[in-house]
Amino acid sequence: MTVPTESDLLEAAPSGLFIAGEWRPATGEATFDVFDPSTGLSIKTVADGSPADGRAALDAAVEAAPGWASTPPRVRAEILRRAFDLLQQRRDEVALLMTLEMGKPLAEAYGEIAYGGEFLRWFSEEAVRISGRYGSNPEGTGRMIVSQRPVGPCYLITPWNFPLAMATRKLAPALAAGCTVVIKPAELTPLTTMYLVSLLAEAGLPAGVVNVITTTDSAGVSEPIIADPRLRKLSFTGSTPVGRRLMKQAAENVLRTSMELGGNAPFVVFGDADLDKAVDGAMLAKFRNIGQACTAANRFIVHESVAAEFATRVTARVNEFRVGRGTDEGVTIGPLINEKAVSKASHLVDDAVSRGATLLVGGSPIDRAGTFYEPTVLTDVRAGSEILREEIFGPVVSIVPFETEDDAVRIANDTEFGLVSYVFTEDFARGQRMIDRLETGMMGLNVGVVSNAAAPFGGVKQSGVGREGGLEGIHEYLETKYTLTPDP
Ligand code: NAD
Repeated sequence: MTVPTESDLLEAAPSGLFIAGEWRPATGEATFDVFDPSTGLSIKTVADGSPADGRAALDAAVEAAPGWASTPPRVRAEILRRAFDLLQQRRDEVALLMTLEMGKPLAEAYGEIAYGGEFLRWFSEEAVRISGRYGSNPEGTGRMIVSQRPVGPCYLITPWNFPLAMATRKLAPALAAGCTVVIKPAELTPLTTMYLVSLLAEAGLPAGVVNVITTTDSAGVSEPIIADPRLRKLSFTGSTPVGRRLMKQAAENVLRTSMELGGNAPFVVFGDADLDKAVDGAMLAKFRNIGQACTAANRFIVHESVAAEFATRVTARVNEFRVGRGTDEGVTIGPLINEKAVSKASHLVDDAVSRGATLLVGGSPIDRAGTFYEPTVLTDVRAGSEILREEIFGPVVSIVPFETEDDAVRIANDTEFGLVSYVFTEDFARGQRMIDRLETGMMGLNVGVVSNAAAPFGGVKQSGVGREGGLEGIHEYLETKYTLTPDP
């Protein structure tokens, strides 16, 4: 199959709301523009859903719920598996669409398809393994039956940074469990999710099982959906402030929630680390997705005996980057998502430097079309600098030297976030101790990327509640039901 040109692809990509199995315009034909962050130009106009459209999407999900819940698990599994196959067949289109709306280099877009697609395959395999228990009660007077039921209609809200994987990580387990959904992608990058949903429909998903609403009025559309007593579950991935707000709304109906929120990952390099591994890990943990990942290493906490060499080697690697439009051959760093992201990176770097950090490379926005920021390395970042507290969400390495293991643990845990940590050490016992001591839901021990469809992804503290992926992922969409019946 030949890959369509950018303009043919964009022209053919869905632009409407997907409700009850049909693409349709928003109320009053309202629309908004999606931009290419590498040029700042509009690439597509899509439907701008209203609260009434949100309600129609929920109506469709509610109506389709009993039929989908009683669809045999094998049938649900096969639809997900067909969607996985279709995604592989269309990966050139999906990768290009993702790069155009989000900015990541094409090679990374293919990487996201490999990762994000796996959720469709993994949960197609899990759909047929939903099981329960049956046994006598301890008194011997009755039989206890424990079964798993789909929770019911779900509302899924996803962020802009991984437009495919954040959608599949929620959609696949929800559909495998027998739940129907309304999904609301981020307004900055809705096109990939819309395309994915067209593939699910092509794979045979019945009308109403997945509904998509795109909107610039996220709060206005979401509030009534969350307040609707027919909704049974809210799953959100995004920033901690928005997650907190949604949890408050969800509390009104005691709605089940899963929250995948922000991070502030420590990347700890001990004096006994293999520096080759640590530098390779650092490049992945920091620069994947141009630093715009919840799992991005935010604070490099490096033993003072190796801090200078680590900084020099990371700087050398940064100097090899090629910054540019993600579709251009050889580009390794794309733009940040928008002007706000550039201002934030600038502010955090300027603040760190004003407090005494040393700038080794980068440190400025790039003067060209689009929203680019130079890959940057800062060392000797001082306590109290904002960059140590805030998610950077940009291509900035921030190095803090430490003396003792206790210091490293204290600095690493000194954050309200607890998503992921990275530890580099060749001392096995130390590695084991760090698993216990670092307050994060996930850890990379001598690796810079941990995400895998087969693994439970999620955080502790203010990084969230619940897990996505792995055996745990489907349980977020299942309700446990217990029945007692007298001994026959
Ligand atoms: P965001 O919180 O601004 O937006 C996330 C989603 O929520 C978007 O779809 C947005 O339109 C919607 N939204 C915003 N305000 C809303 C409201 N009041 N009501 C309902 N919906 C609303 O986050 P973002 O900028 O899109 O994404 C970046 C954030 O996401 C970072 O903090 C990052 O760490 C986090 N993130 C977390 C994970 C994870 O798995 N833990 C993964 C990716 C991103």
